[in-house]
Amino acid sequence: MELFPLLKEHDHEQLIFCHEPSIGYRGLIAIHNTTLGPALGGTRYWKYESEDAAVIDALRLSKAMTYKAAVAGLTLGGGKSVILADPKLTDREAIFRAHGRFVETLKGRYITAEDVGTSPADMDYIHLETDHVVGLQGRSGDPSPVTAYGVYRGMKASVKWKHGSDELAGRTVLVQGAGSVGFNLCKYLAEEGAKIVVTDIDRAKVDKVCDAFRARAVKPDEIYSQPGDVFAPCAMGAVINDATIPRLAVKVIAGAANNVLAEPRHGDELEKRGILYAPDYVINAGGLINVNSELENWSAERAFKKAGEIYDTMLRVYELAKEEGLATYVAADRLAEKRVAMVSKLKRTWV
Ligand code: NAD
Repeated sequence: MELFPLLKEHDHEQLIFCHEPSIGYRGLIAIHNTTLGPALGGTRYWKYESEDAAVIDALRLSKAMTYKAAVAGLTLGGGKSVILADPKLTDREAIFRAHGRFVETLKGRYITAEDVGTSPADMDYIHLETDHVVGLQGRSGDPSPVTAYGVYRGMKASVKWKHGSDELAGRTVLVQGAGSVGFNLCKYLAEEGAKIVVTDIDRAKVDKVCDAFRARAVKPDEIYSQPGDVFAPCAMGAVINDATIPRLAVKVIAGAANNVLAEPRHGDELEKRGILYAPDYVINAGGLINVNSELENWSAERAFKKAGEIYDTMLRVYELAKEEGLATYVAADRLAEKRVAMVSKLKRTWV
């Protein structure tokens, strides 16, 4: 694998190979862009098919973090790290302390956090070696309530763009996934008087939402074809695909899940069908805003306020999409790129 052409393809700043042979730890830290601030992104612990797959994942995920932070208006760049999981590696303290030492060598250019395969306890091990870690136990805490509030605000903005009013009262929202974000989202929807149709593969979670918010339950596969106004994917990615798009009766898609579109062309297909898609990384930025509050010493109130600004950001994405004739998922990328380009041109002033 030729590495420099790969870095050049998406303008990555740095890729660091980390190795601690005494315990078999192998990690990568990818820094995409630090124009806006230190690169922040979680540590993924994953069993990759190959080293190439790990490199590509780290580069792809770090770039996505640049875009997410840029659109959310945070002073953070994009980075991500991966640890190549090996079944022989069982001592999590050793693995994550080794990783923490490499994070420390970057002196704050990269800040790590929890991601797939890691837990707050792993972050505590990293914290034994470096202060450049967020999502620690007893700090900013579970991000789901902030994420859910951001999704709720982004959903209202989307409904306003589509129908002229952001009222959700009387509208029907189909919620896929009654987990941490889904449950909290339903709370906001119920408070405003929206009708909720909910599904989950875990029946107990569905029952909890139905009992608390008088929602109507459907089977997991039935959610796509339900009549309603908004589909809120809050479970897993790639749910907007060739099989599901023709079944959708809603006019807005706005939910928390990452990588909702199976492929970019599905975003174009939604556009053709007049279904408004709230780009995933714009609407679900509350999680990142929550960990950022740990860096900035924000109160919970301030984190919620920042997540509430997703409403205006979402409208800016839609305006740009309209002005430039772009699909909304492309317009979100343009908005991120514009902010990075603008800040990169600011001249340093001697004080
Ligand atoms: P969670 O694990 O608490 O909830 C996910 C729920 O989806 C679970 O209840 C699970 O049973 C259900 N589910 C899984 N497969 C399903 C299927 N086929 N049909 C219906 N339900 C199914 O996760 P969460 O923290 O609520 O996050 C939800 C989504 O939002 C994830 O995709 C996550 O990556 C994304 N997200 C979460 C945050 C956050 O702050 N938690 C931030 C950004 C993005």
